Amino acid sequence: MSANENPRNVPTVLVERMVARLRDLPFNRYPDPLANTLRDDIANAYGLERTNVLVGNGGDELLFDIALAWGGPGRTLLNFPPTFSVYAANARLTHTTVESIDRLPDFTLNEEAILERVAKGKVQCIMITSPNNPTGQCARLEFIEQLLNATDALVVVDEAYGEFAGQTVLPLLEAHQNLLILKTFSKAYALAGVRLGYVLAHASVINELIKVRQPYSVDAVSQAFGEVVFENRALFESGIEEIISERARVFEVLTCDDAFAKVEAFPSDANWILMRVPQAHEAWDYLYSQGVLVRDFSSAPLLGGCLRVTIGTPAENDRFLRELKVFLGKVTS
Ligand code: PMP
Repeated sequence: MSANENPRNVPTVLVERMVARLRDLPFNRYPDPLANTLRDDIANAYGLERTNVLVGNGGDELLFDIALAWGGPGRTLLNFPPTFSVYAANARLTHTTVESIDRLPDFTLNEEAILERVAKGKVQCIMITSPNNPTGQCARLEFIEQLLNATDALVVVDEAYGEFAGQTVLPLLEAHQNLLILKTFSKAYALAGVRLGYVLAHASVINELIKVRQPYSVDAVSQAFGEVVFENRALFESGIEEIISERARVFEVLTCDDAFAKVEAFPSDANWILMRVPQAHEAWDYLYSQGVLVRDFSSAPLLGGCLRVTIGTPAENDRFLRELKVFLGKVTS
Protein backbone atom coordinates (compact mmCIF):
# COMPACT_ATOMS: atom_id res chain seq x y z
CA MET A 1 0.00 0.00 0.00
CA SER A 2 2.99 2.22 -0.63
CA ALA A 3 3.51 2.79 -4.38
CA ASN A 4 0.01 3.74 -5.59
CA GLU A 5 -0.20 0.59 -7.68
CA ASN A 6 -3.41 -1.14 -8.66
CA PRO A 7 -4.13 -3.82 -6.03
CA ARG A 8 -5.51 -6.14 -8.72
CA ASN A 9 -3.44 -7.72 -11.49
CA VAL A 10 -4.49 -7.58 -15.16
CA PRO A 11 -7.57 -9.85 -15.59
CA THR A 12 -6.60 -13.45 -16.49
CA VAL A 13 -8.50 -13.33 -19.77
CA LEU A 14 -6.23 -10.47 -20.88
CA VAL A 15 -3.06 -12.13 -19.56
CA GLU A 16 -3.90 -15.05 -21.87
CA ARG A 17 -4.25 -12.69 -24.84
CA MET A 18 -0.98 -10.98 -23.93
CA VAL A 19 0.83 -14.32 -23.83
CA ALA A 20 -0.73 -15.29 -27.18
CA ARG A 21 0.61 -12.05 -28.71
CA LEU A 22 4.12 -12.96 -27.53
CA ARG A 23 4.12 -16.14 -29.62
CA ASP A 24 3.89 -14.10 -32.85
CA LEU A 25 6.47 -11.43 -32.02
CA PRO A 26 9.59 -11.19 -34.19
CA PHE A 27 12.04 -10.96 -31.28
CA ASN A 28 14.98 -10.62 -33.69
CA ARG A 29 13.67 -7.30 -35.03
CA TYR A 30 13.80 -3.85 -33.46
CA PRO A 31 10.38 -2.60 -32.36
CA ASP A 32 8.49 0.20 -34.10
CA PRO A 33 10.37 3.18 -32.61
CA LEU A 34 7.19 5.21 -32.13
CA ALA A 35 4.78 2.38 -31.23
CA ASN A 36 2.48 3.61 -33.98
CA THR A 37 -0.21 0.93 -33.59
CA LEU A 38 -0.63 1.81 -29.91
CA ARG A 39 -0.36 5.52 -30.77
CA ASP A 40 -3.22 5.13 -33.25
CA ASP A 41 -5.36 3.20 -30.73
CA ILE A 42 -4.86 5.94 -28.13
CA ALA A 43 -5.42 8.76 -30.63
CA ASN A 44 -8.68 7.18 -31.86
CA ALA A 45 -9.98 6.77 -28.33
CA TYR A 46 -9.46 10.47 -27.60
CA GLY A 47 -10.58 11.74 -31.03
CA LEU A 48 -7.02 12.89 -31.80
CA GLU A 49 -4.42 12.19 -34.50
CA ARG A 50 -1.37 9.94 -34.18
CA THR A 51 0.76 13.10 -34.23
CA ASN A 52 -0.88 14.20 -30.94
CA VAL A 53 0.28 11.12 -29.03
CA LEU A 54 3.67 9.89 -27.84
CA VAL A 55 4.18 6.62 -25.96
CA GLY A 56 7.05 6.25 -23.49
CA ASN A 57 8.73 3.77 -21.16
CA GLY A 58 6.43 4.75 -18.31
CA GLY A 59 5.36 8.29 -17.52
CA ASP A 60 8.75 8.63 -15.86
CA GLU A 61 10.59 8.47 -19.18
CA LEU A 62 8.29 11.06 -20.70
CA LEU A 63 8.85 13.35 -17.71
CA PHE A 64 12.58 13.05 -18.30
CA ASP A 65 12.10 13.81 -22.02
CA ILE A 66 10.12 16.92 -21.03
CA ALA A 67 13.04 18.00 -18.83
CA LEU A 68 15.48 17.41 -21.71
CA ALA A 69 13.38 19.37 -24.20
CA TRP A 70 12.05 22.22 -22.03
CA GLY A 71 14.76 22.37 -19.36
CA GLY A 72 18.48 23.01 -19.34
CA PRO A 73 20.84 25.76 -18.19
CA GLY A 74 19.18 29.19 -18.24
CA ARG A 75 15.66 27.72 -18.25
CA THR A 76 13.14 27.71 -15.42
CA LEU A 77 10.63 25.13 -14.22
CA LEU A 78 7.76 26.24 -12.00
CA ASN A 79 6.94 23.59 -9.41
CA PHE A 80 4.26 23.43 -6.70
CA PRO A 81 5.43 21.36 -3.73
CA PRO A 82 4.62 19.19 -1.99
CA THR A 83 4.32 17.21 -5.21
CA PHE A 84 5.85 14.33 -7.18
CA SER A 85 9.60 14.48 -6.46
CA VAL A 86 10.65 13.35 -9.95
CA TYR A 87 10.01 16.81 -11.50
CA ALA A 88 12.61 18.54 -9.33
CA ALA A 89 15.01 15.59 -9.63
CA ASN A 90 14.86 15.78 -13.44
CA ALA A 91 15.39 19.53 -13.26
CA ARG A 92 18.53 19.04 -11.18
CA LEU A 93 19.87 16.45 -13.63
CA THR A 94 19.35 18.83 -16.57
CA HIS A 95 20.64 21.95 -14.72
CA THR A 96 17.22 23.55 -14.97
CA THR A 97 16.39 26.27 -12.42
CA VAL A 98 13.46 25.27 -10.22
CA GLU A 99 11.22 27.97 -8.81
CA SER A 100 8.83 26.58 -6.22
CA ILE A 101 5.54 28.08 -5.13
CA ASP A 102 4.40 26.08 -2.11
CA ARG A 103 0.84 24.86 -1.88
CA LEU A 104 -1.45 26.45 0.72
CA PRO A 105 -1.91 24.70 4.11
CA ASP A 106 -4.86 22.71 2.70
CA PHE A 107 -2.57 21.63 -0.19
CA THR A 108 -4.51 23.53 -2.87
CA LEU A 109 -2.47 25.55 -5.36
CA ASN A 110 -1.55 29.13 -4.48
CA GLU A 111 -3.29 30.30 -7.65
CA GLU A 112 -2.74 34.00 -7.07
CA ALA A 113 1.01 33.62 -6.51
CA ILE A 114 1.32 31.36 -9.57
CA LEU A 115 -0.43 33.86 -11.86
CA GLU A 116 1.67 36.70 -10.44
CA ARG A 117 4.89 34.77 -11.11
CA VAL A 118 3.82 33.75 -14.61
CA ALA A 119 3.04 37.38 -15.50
CA LYS A 120 6.74 38.17 -15.02
CA GLY A 121 7.71 35.72 -17.83
CA LYS A 122 10.98 33.77 -18.16
CA VAL A 123 9.38 30.42 -17.31
CA GLN A 124 9.66 27.55 -19.82
CA CYS A 125 7.73 24.78 -18.11
CA ILE A 126 5.05 24.51 -15.40
CA MET A 127 4.16 21.22 -13.68
CA ILE A 128 0.63 20.66 -12.39
CA THR A 129 -0.18 17.24 -10.98
CA SER A 130 -3.88 16.52 -11.01
CA PRO A 131 -4.69 14.69 -8.78
CA ASN A 132 -1.54 15.78 -6.95
CA ASN A 133 0.77 13.10 -5.58
CA PRO A 134 1.02 12.77 -2.59
CA THR A 135 -1.64 15.24 -1.39
CA GLY A 136 -4.54 13.79 -3.41
CA GLN A 137 -6.69 16.51 -4.89
CA CYS A 138 -7.16 17.78 -8.46
CA ALA A 139 -6.29 21.29 -9.56
CA ARG A 140 -9.29 23.43 -10.59
CA LEU A 141 -9.97 23.21 -14.34
CA GLU A 142 -10.90 26.92 -14.44
CA PHE A 143 -7.51 27.77 -12.97
CA ILE A 144 -5.60 25.59 -15.44
CA GLU A 145 -7.44 27.30 -18.30
CA GLN A 146 -6.61 30.70 -16.86
CA LEU A 147 -2.95 29.67 -16.56
CA LEU A 148 -2.82 28.34 -20.13
CA ASN A 149 -4.12 31.72 -21.34
CA ALA A 150 -1.67 33.65 -19.16
CA THR A 151 1.58 32.03 -20.38
CA ASP A 152 3.41 30.65 -23.40
CA ALA A 153 5.31 28.21 -21.17
CA LEU A 154 4.56 24.52 -21.55
CA VAL A 155 1.92 23.60 -18.95
CA VAL A 156 2.29 19.91 -18.10
CA VAL A 157 -0.80 18.45 -16.47
CA ASP A 158 0.22 15.10 -15.00
CA GLU A 159 -2.94 12.99 -14.93
CA ALA A 160 -1.21 9.74 -13.95
CA TYR A 161 -4.14 9.15 -11.56
CA GLY A 162 -6.82 10.89 -13.66
CA GLU A 163 -8.96 7.76 -14.08
CA PHE A 164 -9.74 7.83 -10.34
CA ALA A 165 -10.70 11.51 -10.42
CA GLY A 166 -13.51 11.85 -12.94
CA GLN A 167 -11.88 15.05 -14.19
CA THR A 168 -9.52 15.69 -17.11
CA VAL A 169 -8.08 18.72 -18.91
CA LEU A 170 -8.58 16.96 -22.25
CA PRO A 171 -11.31 19.41 -23.39
CA LEU A 172 -8.73 22.22 -23.10
CA LEU A 173 -6.27 20.56 -25.48
CA GLU A 174 -7.70 21.67 -28.82
CA ALA A 175 -7.52 25.37 -27.97
CA HIS A 176 -4.14 25.33 -26.18
CA GLN A 177 -0.87 24.62 -28.00
CA ASN A 178 1.03 24.87 -24.71
CA LEU A 179 -0.81 22.07 -22.89
CA LEU A 180 0.76 18.65 -22.42
CA ILE A 181 -1.25 15.90 -20.70
CA LEU A 182 0.63 12.96 -19.17
CA LYS A 183 -1.06 9.61 -18.59
CA THR A 184 0.11 6.14 -17.61
CA PHE A 185 -0.84 2.48 -17.86
CA SER A 186 0.70 1.89 -14.40
CA LYS A 187 -2.23 2.75 -12.16
CA ALA A 188 -5.82 2.32 -13.39
CA TYR A 189 -4.66 -0.23 -16.01
CA ALA A 190 -2.55 -2.32 -13.62
CA LEU A 191 0.61 -2.34 -15.79
CA ALA A 192 3.21 -0.80 -13.46
CA GLY A 193 5.46 -3.79 -14.17
CA VAL A 194 5.41 -3.26 -17.95
CA ARG A 195 6.42 0.45 -18.18
CA LEU A 196 4.07 2.34 -20.47
CA GLY A 197 2.96 5.92 -20.33
CA TYR A 198 1.80 8.45 -22.91
CA VAL A 199 1.53 12.11 -23.65
CA LEU A 200 -1.32 13.95 -25.41
CA ALA A 201 -0.39 17.31 -26.94
CA HIS A 202 -0.29 19.36 -30.14
CA ALA A 203 1.99 17.93 -32.85
CA SER A 204 4.48 20.78 -32.34
CA VAL A 205 4.97 19.66 -28.71
CA ILE A 206 5.19 15.95 -29.61
CA ASN A 207 7.85 16.77 -32.25
CA GLU A 208 10.09 18.41 -29.64
CA LEU A 209 9.85 15.28 -27.45
CA ILE A 210 10.65 13.03 -30.43
CA LYS A 211 13.92 14.94 -30.89
CA VAL A 212 15.20 13.99 -27.42
CA ARG A 213 13.69 10.57 -26.77
CA GLN A 214 15.52 7.23 -26.87
CA PRO A 215 14.47 5.69 -30.21
CA TYR A 216 13.63 2.18 -28.95
CA SER A 217 12.60 2.90 -25.38
CA VAL A 218 9.24 1.14 -25.74
CA ASP A 219 10.08 -2.47 -26.54
CA ALA A 220 7.97 -4.78 -28.71
CA VAL A 221 6.66 -6.75 -25.70
CA SER A 222 5.42 -3.60 -23.96
CA GLN A 223 3.83 -2.36 -27.18
CA ALA A 224 1.96 -5.66 -27.66
CA PHE A 225 0.81 -5.76 -24.03
CA GLY A 226 -0.24 -2.11 -24.17
CA GLU A 227 -2.33 -2.75 -27.30
CA VAL A 228 -4.19 -5.63 -25.63
CA VAL A 229 -4.81 -3.69 -22.41
CA PHE A 230 -5.84 -0.46 -24.12
CA GLU A 231 -8.26 -2.22 -26.50
CA ASN A 232 -9.82 -3.94 -23.49
CA ARG A 233 -9.67 -1.06 -21.04
CA ALA A 234 -13.41 -1.42 -20.31
CA LEU A 235 -12.47 -4.55 -18.32
CA PHE A 236 -10.67 -2.32 -15.78
CA GLU A 237 -13.71 -0.15 -15.07
CA SER A 238 -15.07 -2.30 -12.23
CA GLY A 239 -11.64 -2.26 -10.54
CA ILE A 240 -11.48 1.53 -10.84
CA GLU A 241 -15.00 1.78 -9.38
CA GLU A 242 -14.00 -0.46 -6.48
CA ILE A 243 -10.97 1.72 -5.70
CA ILE A 244 -13.14 4.85 -5.77
CA SER A 245 -15.74 3.36 -3.43
CA GLU A 246 -13.10 1.90 -1.09
CA ARG A 247 -11.41 5.33 -1.01
CA ALA A 248 -14.71 6.81 0.18
CA ARG A 249 -15.15 4.06 2.76
CA VAL A 250 -11.63 4.39 4.20
CA PHE A 251 -11.94 8.20 4.25
CA GLU A 252 -15.26 7.95 6.07
CA VAL A 253 -13.77 5.69 8.75
CA LEU A 254 -10.71 7.92 9.18
CA THR A 255 -12.81 11.08 9.50
CA CYS A 256 -15.91 9.83 11.38
CA ASP A 257 -14.88 6.93 13.60
CA ASP A 258 -13.86 8.15 17.10
CA ALA A 259 -10.98 5.67 17.18
CA PHE A 260 -9.31 7.82 14.47
CA ALA A 261 -10.02 11.20 16.07
CA LYS A 262 -6.29 11.99 16.22
CA VAL A 263 -5.89 11.43 12.47
CA GLU A 264 -6.32 14.26 9.95
CA ALA A 265 -7.17 12.67 6.60
CA PHE A 266 -7.03 14.83 3.45
CA PRO A 267 -9.71 14.41 0.76
CA SER A 268 -8.46 12.51 -2.29
CA ASP A 269 -9.36 12.25 -5.98
CA ALA A 270 -6.72 9.54 -6.45
CA ASN A 271 -6.06 5.93 -5.37
CA TRP A 272 -4.59 6.83 -2.00
CA ILE A 273 -5.28 8.91 1.10
CA LEU A 274 -2.75 11.23 2.73
CA MET A 275 -3.16 11.62 6.48
CA ARG A 276 -1.49 13.39 9.36
CA VAL A 277 -0.98 10.93 12.20
CA PRO A 278 0.42 11.47 15.71
CA GLN A 279 3.90 9.92 16.03
CA ALA A 280 3.74 9.22 12.31
CA HIS A 281 7.10 7.55 11.94
CA GLU A 282 6.35 5.21 14.85
CA ALA A 283 2.96 4.52 13.27
CA TRP A 284 4.73 3.61 10.00
CA ASP A 285 7.09 1.30 11.92
CA TYR A 286 4.25 -0.38 13.76
CA LEU A 287 2.23 -0.91 10.55
CA TYR A 288 5.32 -2.34 8.85
CA SER A 289 5.92 -4.73 11.74
CA GLN A 290 2.35 -5.96 11.21
CA GLY A 291 2.90 -6.53 7.48
CA VAL A 292 1.29 -3.29 6.23
CA LEU A 293 3.61 -1.12 4.13
CA VAL A 294 2.49 2.49 3.64
CA ARG A 295 4.57 5.51 2.50
CA ASP A 296 6.24 7.56 5.21
CA PHE A 297 6.33 11.28 4.38
CA SER A 298 6.63 12.27 8.04
CA SER A 299 9.98 13.98 7.61
CA ALA A 300 9.48 15.24 4.03
CA PRO A 301 9.34 19.02 3.51
CA LEU A 302 5.80 20.45 3.93
CA LEU A 303 4.44 17.01 4.85
CA GLY A 304 5.41 16.75 8.53
CA GLY A 305 3.57 13.94 10.31
CA CYS A 306 2.05 12.56 7.10
CA LEU A 307 1.61 9.00 5.88
CA ARG A 308 0.11 8.00 2.54
CA VAL A 309 -1.84 4.80 2.17
CA THR A 310 -2.63 3.42 -1.28
CA ILE A 311 -6.16 2.07 -1.54
CA GLY A 312 -5.93 -1.70 -1.75
CA THR A 313 -8.48 -4.49 -1.90
CA PRO A 314 -11.28 -4.28 0.71
CA ALA A 315 -9.43 -6.87 2.84
CA GLU A 316 -6.14 -4.93 2.64
CA ASN A 317 -7.91 -1.69 3.56
CA ASP A 318 -9.59 -3.38 6.54
CA ARG A 319 -6.24 -4.70 7.71
CA PHE A 320 -4.66 -1.24 7.43
CA LEU A 321 -7.50 0.34 9.41
CA ARG A 322 -7.38 -2.38 12.05
CA GLU A 323 -3.62 -2.02 12.61
CA LEU A 324 -3.69 1.79 12.60
CA LYS A 325 -6.48 1.65 15.19
CA VAL A 326 -4.34 -0.63 17.39
CA PHE A 327 -1.43 1.82 17.09
CA LEU A 328 -3.61 4.85 17.91
CA GLY A 329 -4.91 3.03 20.98
CA LYS A 330 -1.34 3.00 22.30
CA VAL A 331 -0.72 6.72 21.67
CA THR A 332 -1.10 8.49 24.98
CA SER A 333 -1.26 12.20 24.19
N1 PMP B 1 3.33 11.05 -12.34
C1 PMP B 1 3.01 10.84 -11.06
C2 PMP B 1 2.34 11.93 -10.31
C3 PMP B 1 3.30 9.62 -10.46
O1 PMP B 1 3.01 9.43 -9.17
C4 PMP B 1 3.93 8.60 -11.21
C5 PMP B 1 4.24 7.25 -10.61
N2 PMP B 1 4.78 7.24 -9.37
C6 PMP B 1 4.26 8.88 -12.54
C7 PMP B 1 3.93 10.10 -13.07
C8 PMP B 1 4.99 7.92 -13.41
O2 PMP B 1 4.43 6.66 -13.46
P1 PMP B 1 4.94 5.56 -14.47
O3 PMP B 1 6.39 5.86 -14.79
O4 PMP B 1 4.77 4.28 -13.77
O5 PMP B 1 4.08 5.70 -15.69
